[in-house]
Amino acid sequence: MPTSIDFSNLPPAELTDDGGKVLAARLCVTADIALTVAEAVRRNWAVMPAGGLTSAIGSYDYAADEAAVFAGVVAIRPKTAVVAEVAAPETPLEALLTHQVAVQAGQGLVSAGAGLTFSQVNAVLTEVVGPTARVLVDLTSIGSAFVGGVVATGGMGPLRLPPSLTLDAVCLADGGAPRILTGEDIALVEGMQGWTGMIAAARFRFYNVPASEFGLVLPVQGSDVDTVAGLLAYLRPWTRITLPAPGGRIIGEGGETVLNGIELVSRNSLETFIEHAEDPARSKAQGLLQSCEYAGADMLACLTGWSELSIDDVLMSLLDPETETIGGVGIDFGVGFSSGTEMEIFRAIREGAPDLARTRARVVQPGKLKPWSASTDVNMVMPGDSSAIVAVLEAYADYRIAIRGLAKELVGAVEVELSAYGHLSPAGIDPHHRVTLFAAEGGEAALAGARQAVAANKRTLIHDLLFAAQRHNSVVTGGEKGVPSLVEIARAAGGEGRLPDALKIRFRKAREAVMVAPAAFSFRAPRELRGE
Ligand SMILES: Cc1cc2nc3c(=O)[nH]c(=O)nc-3n(C[C@H](O)[C@H](O)[C@H](O)COP(=O)(O)OP(=O)(O)OC[C@H]3O[C@@H](n4cnc5c(N)ncnc54)[C@H](O)[C@@H]3O)c2cc1C
Repeated sequence: MPTSIDFSNLPPAELTDDGGKVLAARLCVTADIALTVAEAVRRNWAVMPAGGLTSAIGSYDYAADEAAVFAGVVAIRPKTAVVAEVAAPETPLEALLTHQVAVQAGQGLVSAGAGLTFSQVNAVLTEVVGPTARVLVDLTSIGSAFVGGVVATGGMGPLRLPPSLTLDAVCLADGGAPRILTGEDIALVEGMQGWTGMIAAARFRFYNVPASEFGLVLPVQGSDVDTVAGLLAYLRPWTRITLPAPGGRIIGEGGETVLNGIELVSRNSLETFIEHAEDPARSKAQGLLQSCEYAGADMLACLTGWSELSIDDVLMSLLDPETETIGGVGIDFGVGFSSGTEMEIFRAIREGAPDLARTRARVVQPGKLKPWSASTDVNMVMPGDSSAIVAVLEAYADYRIAIRGLAKELVGAVEVELSAYGHLSPAGIDPHHRVTLFAAEGGEAALAGARQAVAANKRTLIHDLLFAAQRHNSVVTGGEKGVPSLVEIARAAGGEGRLPDALKIRFRKAREAVMVAPAAFSFRAPRELRGE
């Protein structure tokens, strides 16, 4: 690695911000983040850390004038590898390159460079430790998002465990010598989108999970909030896991079966998926759509889990013997998935539906303006009591009604697409509701009006969720987009002073961290966090 990099001669990064504005940034790919960051900061280049680029790049509204005080902006991206390189177990975290993994099997620890995906890290664990060993970071972009990017966003998957719950240490590069953050200091980077520095590597505690996986799909009617809440409250014990010592075997409160996700797929997302998918996922998705029709349902609750039992025995163990239902939901139209290939198809459907909604939101159709899209992201940890879950589901049902009403009002001017997907597990309920607006060229004013109406409805939703949490002892923990979600929640609440106490403290700590961070990183942070 050369110690002198001519940043102005690097290729363009070809990145856009959330609004689609092109960023005037150079791209530097490196295996040694600390060295490259130090060089960039020394030469007064602003740094925009880049990972797998699977999120909108940092909820960032690019303003060329804010970057004008720097020599330029460089997007530093970790070097990747097709297969992770295995380094010696004792390799210090600060010496690990971006494409390397080091496993300390006896201690239950795995260190990973910022440029790897968690699928790659788990593949190394399978080889070095065994097939059931894994890092419990399970976001659905597990094969494309990078370790650095996931820690920087605080991303969570169906298990709803934020990275910090299993993080042992993070190596942060912010211009000087790399720093190792542990314990509470991990909050200086988790969910901070790289506003306080760039993550070079992270060390996780790994665990062993039960050997086989299963999937179970239950059609439900979203407007029947009592039934859905009854189902979720009933399933809660199976979703609660106790983390053992690192390297140990995870066990759920529900015994040998652990539910590692209860995910929502709306019927409209499924229909759009069927239009675009290919077999075998397409025909399997058609089968699920038929189940929806037979059950008179507009949503699918997709349960996934680990168990030592067969899918039939899992079903029996989840069944309430008195009612012969799963928490009040009949299993007649349920569909089970067990083997490796079946689970792959199931995942392709469960993850394909939201992915398509995200893609449609980005693609400009001929004769139309660039679509505008916004998704909800409020993660809530629910108590066992189903009335708490009802209050949350009602808020989302109201939001859907409002958006459908808006769609009717705007017929002919703006097309409104609503797609619901994401997390229903009481361990973290966060059913994303994505609204995408399409308007014909020349329809700028109509699009802007519709955009304001959606934003106002979204603020009402967030407000209702905060109120529901307050009344029913549930906890709003932020969102899986980290601090940007926290900022959005604060804005909807009417300012950080109106946040629940725990979020208020997080907000304050995030601001303190941003305010002492080098300007080369903090320039992208929202104004509230820069103390402006
Ligand atoms: C199909 C699909 C499924 C998804 N599923 C989920 C899901 O289940 N849960 C979820 O939470 N999200 C999900 N996402 C969103 C996205 O994958 C996550 O936000 C992910 O954590 C982003 O990782 P990345 O490496 O792609 O980061 P990027 O998109 O490259 O960057 C994200 C942010 O982190 C910063 N950053 C990147 N790397 C670093 C670093 N090394 N150090 C410091 N800052 C850095 C960037 O500047 C940017 O602000 C999904 C996205 C897709 C496309």
